[in-house]
Amino acid sequence: MASKKEEVRRKHIRLHMESTLTARDKVGVQDFVLLDAYTSESAFLDNLRKRFSENLIYTYIGTLLVSVNPYQELGIYTMSQMELYQGVNFFELPPHVYAIADNAYRMMCSELTNHFILISGESGAGKTEASKKILQYFAVTCPMTESLQIARDRLLLSNPVLEAFGNAKTLRNDNSSRFGKYMDIQFDYKGIPVGGHIISYLIEKSRVVYQNQGERNFHIFYQLLEGGEEELLAYLGLERDPQLYKYLSQGHCAKESSINDKNDWKTVSSAFSVIDFTEDDLENLFGILASVLHLGNVCFEENHQGCATIPDTHEIKWIAKLLGVHPSILLEALTHRKIEAKTEEVICPLTLELSVYARDAMAKSIYGRTFTWLVNKINSSLVNKDFTKKTVIGLLDIYGFEVFDKNDEECIRPGPATDLSFLEKLEEKVGQHAHFQTRKLAGPKGRKRIGWMEFRLSHYAGEVTYCTKGFLEKNNDLLYRHLKEVLCSSNNRILKECFLVAELENRRRPPTVGTQFKNSLSSLLEILISKEPSYIRCIKPNERKEPSKFDDLLIRHQIKYLGLMEHLRVRRAGFAHRRKYEHFLQRYKSLCPDTWPHWHGPPAEGVERLIQYIGYTPEEYKLGRTKIFIRFPRTLFATEDAFEF
Ligand code: ATP
Ligand code: MG
Repeated sequence: MASKKEEVRRKHIRLHMESTLTARDKVGVQDFVLLDAYTSESAFLDNLRKRFSENLIYTYIGTLLVSVNPYQELGIYTMSQMELYQGVNFFELPPHVYAIADNAYRMMCSELTNHFILISGESGAGKTEASKKILQYFAVTCPMTESLQIARDRLLLSNPVLEAFGNAKTLRNDNSSRFGKYMDIQFDYKGIPVGGHIISYLIEKSRVVYQNQGERNFHIFYQLLEGGEEELLAYLGLERDPQLYKYLSQGHCAKESSINDKNDWKTVSSAFSVIDFTEDDLENLFGILASVLHLGNVCFEENHQGCATIPDTHEIKWIAKLLGVHPSILLEALTHRKIEAKTEEVICPLTLELSVYARDAMAKSIYGRTFTWLVNKINSSLVNKDFTKKTVIGLLDIYGFEVFDKNDEECIRPGPATDLSFLEKLEEKVGQHAHFQTRKLAGPKGRKRIGWMEFRLSHYAGEVTYCTKGFLEKNNDLLYRHLKEVLCSSNNRILKECFLVAELENRRRPPTVGTQFKNSLSSLLEILISKEPSYIRCIKPNERKEPSKFDDLLIRHQIKYLGLMEHLRVRRAGFAHRRKYEHFLQRYKSLCPDTWPHWHGPPAEGVERLIQYIGYTPEEYKLGRTKIFIRFPRTLFATEDAFEF
């Protein structure tokens, strides 16, 4: 007997389905697979537009979710919506990001398999928002014990902290993630979230020292100045006005009406305490942020010999105090460089240009490594050693997707040749992998080399394209040894952990950005390949961040490069669902007397008996080597129903 609550929920679902069907013409179809006959790109676009105009931002292609950023609050992420989607079969309710989350969760629980949800789309399309909604969904709907509430809160609160340090206002997105993020949410055998792990990719360090017109540095700097207590700012030697800092004012938009730095500071500050940051951690962390700002205000002049000097040492003194280094050594390291001759070290003065380069490299390096420290710190608070047997759902939200063939000036331009060789090396390492392809893109006529390429990660349900344009250029922060020595001698506890003296003793070159990326990409591939994927493709409806504006051209372009039409074709020709025989049998064996309570023969045979018993018709399924393939969602849907009642 279904409980009262369950009955109410079922009624709700029926009403939903009926209203969806009657309103079909008005609101389009909720699964592109159901579009009539041959589907052209125009029909696809029409359907998306129809639904968007009714604030229906989600549409399926089979089990893939297409999401169009509404740029407004729609009231579809309430508690009652979360309850509605909980434990419901995928196609019973209108498409929703909660359905994707719930489906992955239920599969994980019933089959004890690991999953990941790959969220792709261009900057501003809604990837990060989608991943936050999924995390919230798990936090609210998963079973919970009192002792594990802290683990859940830490998972949730890791977000504002990482966003403060890793997100920034860009022209495309007021809260653009400037690092790639992969997050594992770990569950115990009862489906309770017990911990997590985050991997970050390539924080955009160049933003620390330079921002384009209309863009900002990372949020945390502005939050600190706006929200930091008087005593804290005095201790750090900072003024409240961001315009006073070169590293914060180049984009001419330090104050942005859509961003409330003061409130965000409060959120981040309280998150710090839940994630176990100590007073000492914070003092050291803010000391580093302030040093970066002071560093940006260090000015150089050229002397008669054409060498750089620092006439005003005010900033140097602050940095020296906050980082616990000797001011004269820091000053020397910013204006000189050590060269190793055969038997001795020679100290050469730097030109003004090279000093500026050294200063900026120091700022980028400090920030980049501090970000890594931050991720490690968060991870150490998310780790849960009490649970050895865990299953996971991973969320992959990676920036780096840019609209590429739309504007040839913007993207196709010759970059440093190293970019290309970096990709060649990358190809060598992972190119053999079945899931990996690269494609060289033609540069403007007459230019032999191009500075970037794209590479693809492909899975059976689709491909994701990453553009590597300027990876190296953006992340170039080679530190002169002299400066590295200064940082290694720092008394700042975080820097001490980030710049180990051992690095100086190791005379070999440190791993380049290319090598680091190559390594992290291969390990990401390993992580993904061992898991069952779900996909969310996010679409940005217009360039002006406006609600209700549907820009046909822009969206058509995204449909193309997100590969949605190909995906639809594959889905139509193929089978919507596939499941390993063992898992299928385990889940549905109670429906057939031959397989219940135990089936002792080969799983494939058991499945065959089972589906014959429940009456699958031949066109509904195919039996593969290890899996059963089911053509229509409704078949699985009916089986699930039979199973539940
Ligand atoms: P980037 O690659 O630059 O990080 P992104 O794809 O992560 O971009 P988001 O930051 O998720 O983009 O979304 C951009 C903005 O769009 C959000 O700050 C929010 O204002 C709005 N937005 C996105 N998704 C939704 C949604 N589902 N409902 C309401 N607003 C949304
Ligand atoms: Mg983002």
